Amino acid sequence: MANYDVIIIGSGPGGYVAAIRAAQLGLKTACVEGRETLGGTCLNIGCIPSKALLHATHQLHEAEHNFAKMGLKGKSPSVDWKQMLAYKDEVVTTNTKGVEFLLKKNKVDWLKGWGSIPEPGKVKVGDEVHETKNIIVATGSVPSSLPGVEVDEKIVVTSTGALELPKIPKKMVVIGAGVIGLEMGSVYARLGTEVTVVEYLDAITPGMDAEVQKQFQKILTKQGLKFIMGAAVQGVEATKTKAKVSYKLKKDNSEAVLDADVVLVATGRKPYTGGLGLEALGVEMSERGQIKTDAHWQTNVKGIYAIGDAIAGPMLAHKAEDEGMAAAETVAGKHGHVNYGVIPGVVYTHPEVATVGQTEEQVKESGRAYKVGKFSFMGNGRAKAVFAADGFVKLIADKETDRILGCHIIGPGAGDLIHEICVAMEFGASAEDVAMTCHAHPTFSEAVREAALACGDGAIHM
Ligand SMILES: Cc1cc2nc3c(=O)[nH]c(=O)nc-3n(C[C@H](O)[C@H](O)[C@H](O)COP(=O)(O)OP(=O)(O)OC[C@H]3O[C@@H](n4cnc5c(N)ncnc54)[C@H](O)[C@@H]3O)c2cc1C
Repeated sequence: MANYDVIIIGSGPGGYVAAIRAAQLGLKTACVEGRETLGGTCLNIGCIPSKALLHATHQLHEAEHNFAKMGLKGKSPSVDWKQMLAYKDEVVTTNTKGVEFLLKKNKVDWLKGWGSIPEPGKVKVGDEVHETKNIIVATGSVPSSLPGVEVDEKIVVTSTGALELPKIPKKMVVIGAGVIGLEMGSVYARLGTEVTVVEYLDAITPGMDAEVQKQFQKILTKQGLKFIMGAAVQGVEATKTKAKVSYKLKKDNSEAVLDADVVLVATGRKPYTGGLGLEALGVEMSERGQIKTDAHWQTNVKGIYAIGDAIAGPMLAHKAEDEGMAAAETVAGKHGHVNYGVIPGVVYTHPEVATVGQTEEQVKESGRAYKVGKFSFMGNGRAKAVFAADGFVKLIADKETDRILGCHIIGPGAGDLIHEICVAMEFGASAEDVAMTCHAHPTFSEAVREAALACGDGAIHM
């Protein structure tokens, strides 16, 4: 008799959500976690702590730049960095404890330690081997390295080090203009750090709608971030207190060096599957180190499933969560489902950037006839009232059927606004469906409706 119906290895958003759903469906479930606390990268060193620092520094920005305009006078707050880090840690603890509570509540056993799979149907944690009918691998990802750059997590850091620097650096070089680099770059820029972002490509946030990329870079530049685009980093030389980043510009091969107190390497993440024993089991992996699965998250070895950052697809917490639920449902004999065409992506800078579905470039390439409805937050009363009118909503719909194909928002609350379009897309809605839905005034959401109206007879407030 197996001890468990399912053992999940890893307690990040993929793993703990899979565990809760499996237990809810009546499966005897355990979750293995080697870290001291539950919640994975996301809760411990990812989504949650970064958002805490983004929130705190945004408050500072508001106090410094907008309070006086609203008649709120007085000295701007000074920064107590130690306290800000303590606040961030407190937010992390509350969340990781919350996951611990949820696992207990759902009667999921937390098997503490690093797990491996000696053979299908068995999971070894420490010296103990647990038998199980199914295994879900949810071991997540780690920062990817860059040739010629050695990370010490003090002067040359990944996002993990950037979340707990002992002091606010005067100068920071961020290698990589992806989501993590820009979010952490924004945090430090708001704290007064001179931030220079060096990016190999010619546009920031690779893969996003080009119009959004351009506007986003403009706004961040206005906020004080410097960008060196089309630059290949050649190496980083670090001492105990400083670093030098050398780079070569692709356009003319010219070389230059940047000085920094801290260098943040934010060049992406790679799946983490070390120590599981997958190779010996013959589990197929992609060239990029991702575990290969079928459409039901099962690997080529029966009874072993994989989800989240460890498999293909966007490395996002909510994608991992959806796969966690769906894989657990599959294991329980139900029909788990994830619609990969409707997974939103959000950058939590200020303004936020949010996107779902196809970019205009992708639609164009598909050869499909399409229309674009755009609405600037300049025409949104609420956005103007809170000094957040930079940005727009861009809705893309099929020219013939009016069905929504994608939405790209840069503006206040974009990360929340996008979900209206996610739901619309799930229901196969048209731009007109959104345009005909009454939206409360004054809200940022009205900008989404106006973009939908712009796909038809025209926006009202533009
Ligand atoms: C700075 C930063 C900010 C981010 N911000 C966002 C954001 O705002 N929104 C968003 O959607 N995504 C964000 N992400 C990405 C997000 O964190 C990941 O996509 C998400 O955590 C992936 O979830 P997961 O469950 O696949 O793996 P993880 O969260 O990485 O969890 C995997 C867990 O498995 C454990 N583990 C690994 N191997 C073993 C083993 N052998 N035995 C036991 N335990 C093991 C690890 O210790 C880890 O706790 C951010 C990431 C970073 C680094």
